[in-house]
Amino acid sequence: MRLSDHFYLHEMTRSQLATRHQIVNQPNATQIDALRHLCRDVMEPVRRHFGVPIVPSSGFRCLTLNRLLGSQDTSKHCLGEAVDFEIIGVSNICLAHWMAQNLVFDQLILEYPQVDDGRAGWVHVSCRGAGNRGQCLTWRQNGYIGGLPKLKRVHEKFPTAQKT
Ligand SMILES: [Zn+2]
Repeated sequence: MRLSDHFYLHEMTRSQLATRHQIVNQPNATQIDALRHLCRDVMEPVRRHFGVPIVPSSGFRCLTLNRLLGSQDTSKHCLGEAVDFEIIGVSNICLAHWMAQNLVFDQLILEYPQVDDGRAGWVHVSCRGAGNRGQCLTWRQNGYIGGLPKLKRVHEKFPTAQKT
């Protein structure tokens, strides 16, 4: 099932862990709608701007899968409202900054960044139908702090937007 121009449902539900544990990670109609929204408002603009294919590492998670991952039941992944991903050739810090400046989302979290390695970790982003807060957080050792790390010279500058 196609969710948007470049994204399919199977990309937003697949999970190595689910496969290994024979968990059927199948969203219901409401959760599929949320995934469609996420693809349209977040993934497609990122795909268009950076011009490279995106392979989501974790989108929808049924409760069984989410618990197996050690995530809380309140995770937005369980609603189909969140996705984790990276993109090839762009540091996660750079990606997070571009998203923060250009997209409507509820929460954007830079997970497990490293000062000297812009590609460390990944970006988590969630969005919902209404009331998106545009909140940015960064994981720091034992918890989350508000905001994103400053872009440093070690991280590349924003890639030029693709002409579309
Ligand atoms: Zn996540």
